[in-house]
Amino acid sequence: MNNKKSLEIYNEATKYIPGGVNSPVRAFKSVGLDPVFIDRAEGSRIYDVDGNEYIDYICSWGPLMLGHSPKEIVEGIEEVVKRGTSYGVPTAIEVEMAKLIVEAYPAIDQVRMVNSGTEATMSALRVARAYTNRNKILKFEGCYHGHSDALLVKSGSGLITYGVPTSPGVPNDVVKDTLVCRYNDLDAVRTIFKEQGHEIAAIIVETVAGNMGVVPGTQEFLQLLRDITKEYGSVLIFDEVITGFRLNYSSSVGYFGIKPDMACFGKIIGAGLPVGAYGGTKEIMSMVSPVGPVYQAGTLSGNPLAMHMGKKNLEILRDRPEIYEELERKAIRLEEGLKANVEKLGLDYTVNRAGSLVCLFFTNGPINNYDDVTRCDVPKFNKYFEELLSRGVLLAPTQFEAMFLSNAHTDEDIDYTINASYEALKIAHNL
Ligand code: PMP
Repeated sequence: MNNKKSLEIYNEATKYIPGGVNSPVRAFKSVGLDPVFIDRAEGSRIYDVDGNEYIDYICSWGPLMLGHSPKEIVEGIEEVVKRGTSYGVPTAIEVEMAKLIVEAYPAIDQVRMVNSGTEATMSALRVARAYTNRNKILKFEGCYHGHSDALLVKSGSGLITYGVPTSPGVPNDVVKDTLVCRYNDLDAVRTIFKEQGHEIAAIIVETVAGNMGVVPGTQEFLQLLRDITKEYGSVLIFDEVITGFRLNYSSSVGYFGIKPDMACFGKIIGAGLPVGAYGGTKEIMSMVSPVGPVYQAGTLSGNPLAMHMGKKNLEILRDRPEIYEELERKAIRLEEGLKANVEKLGLDYTVNRAGSLVCLFFTNGPINNYDDVTRCDVPKFNKYFEELLSRGVLLAPTQFEAMFLSNAHTDEDIDYTINASYEALKIAHNL
């Protein structure tokens, strides 16, 4: 694979940007490679600066459900730019966008736009803490909720732990109220609520954990979170940054039939532009300034370009439910193809799928939590990634992430991917 230009840019990049990238995983360090630099993308395809073409399963880490730059979404963006790129005073399209989200998501009455998933979760927690007048929060091992201090926490050993900062620069004091339980572990949740339930402001959870591969929360687990937060007067927050509008149009509420008190959205509502949002019941959102005392603000929040793209994207998803059926059908095609590959090769590996999120784990199943995920043979995955890349298939450069399907992926793309995956698996395992 020719990557001469990518390497040149990368060398230059490392002089001016830490690690040469603006988000760590892009450096491909986790798979032991140098990054490719992208020139352009269209539909299911992405092209690097050396002219290599890939079928893209990163899709900007989730949001591009209709593929790259779908005509019906990007059309008209020049007109929006000509009318101004940011005002810092309100616009009608922000209202239309908020209405779309609230109408789609049966558990929330009001929503506030922000600029990223990190901002959405950070703000939702602040509101939940103020609403309950409590400090403690509960998150789950292996779930990622952005890089704000209080959520940048790993767990220690054992079923229930107090948070330990994942990163230097996060003071111990800031994470002392962040409790961590094992994902899908009902007993751990019951125990921690028995001990400290009346001090817990909120549970924040990915209903399908998408930052340790694809690990769906079980129905019993998510129902327990709903019931126990109600019992103890804590706020249940679904982090829908990956699952929102992807599992189906009403997100996790439609998929699992469980309503949280608050929800956080990210990139997916901006169709590739920087955006996020958090919402909740009217009572909870009345805490937010200027109605209530909780301060939360943003100069670029509700940016006209992001609102324009996001609104068109959501309208398409709302008006064409067949998109979800198609996405699911394609994801099943991919899932079955990957399963057949590992079976044919005699590998005891696991494929998890939730809606259009698919992950091939390099270990046996079932995969229900972070401990299960850490059994994966990462060096073999890394070789597999490299082999796929050289065959024109771009996965997220880590074992612990989903393959994101878009409606622009064709059956031919998927069949090509399955065949390439077979070859890559063979090479990675010397078979
Ligand atoms: N929550 C979840 C579930 C995520 O997957 C991510 C990022 N992938 C975030 C929050 C943070 O979003 P952002 O990168 O936009 O800050």
